[in-house]
Amino acid sequence: MRRVFHKLESGKMVTPVYIFLLIYTIMALVWWGVLLFRQSDQITGYERENLAMRIDSTQQPMQYHLAEQRITKNEELRTFKFLGEGAIFLLILLVGAWLVYRAIRKQLKLQQQQQNFLMAVTHELKSPIAAAKLNLETIRKRKLDEEKQHKLIDNTIRETNRLDQLCNNILLASQFESDRNQLFREDLNFSDLLQAGTDEIEARTNSHTIVTDIQPGIWLNGDKFMLQIVLSNLVENAIKYVPKGTEIRVLLFEKDRLLKWQVIDAGPGIPAGEKDRIFQKFYRIGNENTRSAKGSGLGLFLTRKIIEQHNGTIVVKDNAPAGTIFEITLGEYSAQTA
Ligand code: ADP
Repeated sequence: MRRVFHKLESGKMVTPVYIFLLIYTIMALVWWGVLLFRQSDQITGYERENLAMRIDSTQQPMQYHLAEQRITKNEELRTFKFLGEGAIFLLILLVGAWLVYRAIRKQLKLQQQQQNFLMAVTHELKSPIAAAKLNLETIRKRKLDEEKQHKLIDNTIRETNRLDQLCNNILLASQFESDRNQLFREDLNFSDLLQAGTDEIEARTNSHTIVTDIQPGIWLNGDKFMLQIVLSNLVENAIKYVPKGTEIRVLLFEKDRLLKWQVIDAGPGIPAGEKDRIFQKFYRIGNENTRSAKGSGLGLFLTRKIIEQHNGTIVVKDNAPAGTIFEITLGEYSAQTA
């Protein structure tokens, strides 16, 4: 019994139990219909017997015929009523069942994603801490030359940055969840912000080349910290999912009086069916057991939320011949000409 409850809780038995209940309810409805039709037949039989006792068909054939017609009509009306009511019940039942099934599936999927998230986050939290600890212990224990020391310190800073990004993402996700997130807007030189942010990431990345083509003098009223998170999420994703040595491009330009901000890579790309889903909370493409790149599935969820708060949109397109283009469109900005 305990095992059954456990299976129910974990969602494994929900579908069979659900299908059983649905079939049982439909069969009960059909049986109810059969009983009503039988009852209707009986009523017609009694009415006919009663008619035969009341009116003699040979002496009053006209009256008998009229009464007989009324009995048949009543039976037809009952049949129509039962079929109509049955069909409406069945329709309500099926629509309800479909809605419940959708809700259960959504719930189970979310549960699974949260479980994956917990596993991934635990690993993501532990691995940078372990790496930083090891690096610091090595520096303390051994007499290393300056170059090696620098290497270890750089590595430690990289790991703490990863940790910092993850913590920011988790905190922000919980703020968005409870609608507590507010932007601290200010007028900022967005071109400079993007250039400085990309330069900073480029400086600590030795696996990829990051190229920028940023139109200067673009100002907008936005939240500096949030926009930095968007840049970091998109570029860090490209670094994470794209083969080493390839180029990542960060572009900012005006098109048709709109501001376009693109992060382009030449990686594996994102399959058509996944393009919308990657923006869902905790969603990660593929299977948790086979996936090698670690993550929380929060980055793009937050990115979209932040861009929406800035009254913008984000879409993902295919890059040619391969790779991904994340394109953000913002309408509220001003461009200064030199
Ligand atoms: P995380 O990176 O923590 O898994 P994200 O929300 O940032 O979460 O990304 C969701 C998913 O989208 C990732 O798991 C990855 O499969 C896919 N993805 C994101 N960026 C890229 C990219 N540049 N190239 C290929 N796949 C990507």
